[in-house]
Amino acid sequence: MAEDALSTLLTRLGRPSQGWANTPIVKGSTYLFEDLAQWRATREQREGQRVLSYGARGNETVFALEDAITALEGGYRSKLFPTGLAAIAAAFLAYLKAGDHVLISEGVYQPARQLCESQLTNYGMSFSFFDPRDPEWQKALRPETRMVYVESPGSLLYDMFDLPAIAKVCRPKGILLCADNTWGSSLIYKPLELGFDVSVVAATKYLGGHSDVMMGSVTTREACFPELEKVSVNLGQTVSAEDAFLVLRGIRTLDLRLRRHAESALGIASWLVSQPAIKRVFHPALDSDPNHLLWKRDAHGSNGLITVEFDPKLAADRIEQAIGALRLFGIGASWGGYESLVLPVDVKRTRYRDAAVQPGYLLRLHIGLEDPQDLKNDLNKLLGALAH
Ligand SMILES: *Cc1c(COP(=O)(O)O)cnc(C)c1O
Repeated sequence: MAEDALSTLLTRLGRPSQGWANTPIVKGSTYLFEDLAQWRATREQREGQRVLSYGARGNETVFALEDAITALEGGYRSKLFPTGLAAIAAAFLAYLKAGDHVLISEGVYQPARQLCESQLTNYGMSFSFFDPRDPEWQKALRPETRMVYVESPGSLLYDMFDLPAIAKVCRPKGILLCADNTWGSSLIYKPLELGFDVSVVAATKYLGGHSDVMMGSVTTREACFPELEKVSVNLGQTVSAEDAFLVLRGIRTLDLRLRRHAESALGIASWLVSQPAIKRVFHPALDSDPNHLLWKRDAHGSNGLITVEFDPKLAADRIEQAIGALRLFGIGASWGGYESLVLPVDVKRTRYRDAAVQPGYLLRLHIGLEDPQDLKNDLNKLLGALAH
């Protein structure tokens, strides 16, 4: 399959070798064996291999999705979790123990930060944050640093980091490298190919793609898979076959959808750059974005995420009133579905790129699959409301 283009691969992954075009939804908790000898043999086998043995250990539908994500990420195997955040938590708990330190890139998804602050510390693990673009970032590594956890591009401002450079420093020290690859959605950014060991994705976003399912995945290299599997079993983490089916269905159109999201978003971002009410537009595919060169080097595409910073002279309540003029952009959490969304960005909860500068009001846009001209017309209503 390796010689097939990604778009072709997406139509073939996780499908049965014969019969149904799609892997059916398999429902089950109990799996029956021929006799006790087979039951015993399977229980032994399942410690090292993937076999059918019990509902919580997965079924054909779940395995099909695991295989598809593994192929896209270029890993050894994947495990699925009920949400993206559960996948992040599993990655931390799989590889960290009391006394270990995890070094985390600034700008990570805020609930991951909260997980560290209010949960990991209870178990004797420590964490701190770093800016991988700081030439002296290595000084943040400690003798007890067990993992470096990076989100690239980061949440909200899409800061990109040089993963191969981080890997070059950490590999010889035996530090495990884990990335949140939700922005890349297993397709347009590949942490494992860039030297990382573990890639976490909130499949709730583009993999599902239709705002109707929650899921997370963790894909690893062979050497670090057993610890992940152990945590999945011990914490009783599993996903429903219906949800796995929905994500697998989403994957069929992942490339097509991302191309459309990216094309519309770039068009809208380029247009927003020239609007007087807008001070800055964050979108790595824009050539004015400071991450553009790294994006070109390491990413294979873009998506529908844009964050805009309004002119700091504009009052927040005026902007929020203008947001009320939008008709096609929904107000709500998440992104990666078919529809356009807006949500204010709280800079106090995340790091801001230029901490010294008081930023203007920040608004994150998710550009959906609607006609981009309709979306521009809608945004024009917001901008119009600010012009007088
Ligand atoms: C949304 C998101 C998550 C969490 O996904 P859920 O399925 O909502 O738990 C994790 N990381 C990033 C970067 C996200 O955007």
